Amino acid sequence: MRIFSGIQPTGRKHLGNYIGAITQYVAGQDRGEAIYCVVDLHAITVAYETEVLRESVYDTAATLLAAGLDPDRCIFFRQSDVQEHSELCWLLSAVTSFGELNRMTQFKDKAGAQRDLVSAGLFFYPVLQAADVLAYRAHEVPVGEDQRQHIELMRDAAERFNARFGKTLVVPEARIPQVGARIMDLQAPDRKMSTTGGTAQGTVLVLDEPDVIAKKVRSSVTDSGSEVRRGPDKAGISNLIDILAAVRGIEPDAVEGEFDGAGYGAFKQAVADAVVEYLAPVRQRYHELRADEAELERVLEAGAAKARAIATDTMEDVRRAMGVGPVRPRG
Ligand code: ATP
Ligand code: MG
Repeated sequence: MRIFSGIQPTGRKHLGNYIGAITQYVAGQDRGEAIYCVVDLHAITVAYETEVLRESVYDTAATLLAAGLDPDRCIFFRQSDVQEHSELCWLLSAVTSFGELNRMTQFKDKAGAQRDLVSAGLFFYPVLQAADVLAYRAHEVPVGEDQRQHIELMRDAAERFNARFGKTLVVPEARIPQVGARIMDLQAPDRKMSTTGGTAQGTVLVLDEPDVIAKKVRSSVTDSGSEVRRGPDKAGISNLIDILAAVRGIEPDAVEGEFDGAGYGAFKQAVADAVVEYLAPVRQRYHELRADEAELERVLEAGAAKARAIATDTMEDVRRAMGVGPVRPRG
């Protein structure tokens, strides 16, 4: 069983990424052949600074290693080091529906948030994402809830490819956690916590200092009631319940039971304490790892060599199936 997922190097990663995706990446190492990549080519689809991008790749790599990715137990690399992703993206465009791409809510949300240029890359983002996964013929893609639509699109592309050119690609499944698949912004609980959008105060960064985390949680927006329970009219409290459940590895029901009658103040303090405790060891390891850029570079390059070996094999089959390039004897 092969697992693949990618994470953007834009800015610093947040609690939503950590709960929704990163913890699943770590667990995936015990469940199958796990392949993870820092998707720098996805990050250029919105406005960015060239020097910051390179630094952010190291920031994100160090964060994932601090969280528990082990380069001896997974393949961990930088997307742009494996050029097959870009080539496969273009080839997959032949089996990707324009109409379907046009319905992607992430594109609509992100396009609306751009100050000037809405890049074609932002529109094509899901095709590159499909290439990321399909290049490795991965079976499973651990992601947060927001990526469900993109996984559906890549499944359609893979099915269409196989039907049109013969069975070549694996049609992957999304793996979305039961609790914490959509952590909301603490200040605007109607939208997801995000690396590039969202409010500064409503986004708990993995690397935030304990007092900063505590302040963000305690000042989170909640309704005017006092009951600690989930409900459609209680987006803020529901979000905090999910966060505490995910961090403690318990059911949201158990959180509601424990804080029945406790009031919002005590509940928020408990969430703040739990999140601080949860992230503290990661932050500590991060600073150790981030200090050695040469070692991070070495890890990423070694990972890319392993990834490339798999991706070139897929590309050979894809090119042959599509009639692209000269006929080569099966290697
Ligand atoms: P952006 O908002 O700019 O797309 P992001 O915060 O979604 O950035 P990504 O690198 O695109 O960060 O996502 C990495 C992983 O984290 C994806 O699997 C995504 O589904 C998951 N994820 C992102 N935000 C959340 C969230 N608020 N709750 C749970 N999972 C999330
Ligand atoms: Mg995202």
